[in-house]
Amino acid sequence: MKVYVVCDLEGVAGIVDFKKQCMEEGAYYQQAIRVATQELNALIDGLIDGGATEVYAWPGHGDFPGGIDFELIHPECKLVMHAGDGGPAGIDSSFDAMVLHGFHGMAGASNGVLSHSFYPLPRNIWFDDKKVGEIALNIYSFGEHGVPCIMVTGDQAAADEAKAIVPDIEQVPIKWGLAEKEKLGALTVRQAISLSPEKAREKIREAATKAMQKLSLITPVVQKTPFKLKVEFIEEKYADSKSGFPGVKRLDSVTISKECHSLADVVF
Ligand SMILES: [Zn+2]
Repeated sequence: MKVYVVCDLEGVAGIVDFKKQCMEEGAYYQQAIRVATQELNALIDGLIDGGATEVYAWPGHGDFPGGIDFELIHPECKLVMHAGDGGPAGIDSSFDAMVLHGFHGMAGASNGVLSHSFYPLPRNIWFDDKKVGEIALNIYSFGEHGVPCIMVTGDQAAADEAKAIVPDIEQVPIKWGLAEKEKLGALTVRQAISLSPEKAREKIREAATKAMQKLSLITPVVQKTPFKLKVEFIEEKYADSKSGFPGVKRLDSVTISKECHSLADVVF
C-alpha cells in the first residue's frame, strides 16, 4: 500500500500567525516546522499501523524547505524535495491513496484559520460555478491518476471543505477560528482555539489507521472537463500579468477566465 501525503503548514496545531510562524524569516518558523514534522510523523505512524508499506510526503508550503524539518522526518518516509510550490510532484497511478496534512480553507472560508488560496494573489477561484481552493485542486490532481483522498488534517474549515468533496473522508479538525484579526492580501488571520500539538498527534495517528482501513470505500474524485476557470485577483496588476496567456479572457479589471481541458490548463 503506497500513500502520498501532501503537506502544508497553516493547518498544523498551534500555527495561527502567518508572519511569525509561516514565513522563513519569522521568529517562530523553525519551531513551527518542527511541530509540523512531528505531526506528520504521527500521521505516518498511523498510516503504517493501518497497512501502508510506502509513504511519500511533499512539503508544499512554499519552495524549499517547504515547511518541514527534514532532519526530524520519520525514518520510513520518502520526502519529495525541491519540487517548488506549484503542486505535488511525482504523482502517478501506483499510489493507493493520498492524505492532506496541515491544511487551511480556501480564501474567504468562514471562520478559516489562515485561510487563503495560493497566497497572496487570488481572492476567488471558480471551476464553472463552483468555488475551489488548494484542497480541491489537490484532490482533483490525484483523482486524475485514479488516487483517492482518504484523510484531511487542519482547521475546521479545511476539514469541512474536504468533506464536501469526499463525503467519506476521515477528517481531523484541530483548530477552530474565532474573530478576524487582519487580512494579508486574501489571507485571513484569526483568533483561534487549537488542540495541543500532543493531542493533535494522538488524534491524527488514530485517524490515519482508520483511514487506511476504509480506503477501499473511497473513490477518486475527478474534475469533469472541459470546465471554465475564473480567477478574481486581489489587484489589477496580477490580472494584467495573465491577460496575454493563450486562451485567457479578461472579464473585468481583476478577473480573468479560461476554458480548460485539463488541470494543466489552469493559470493563476
Ligand atoms: Zn502553506
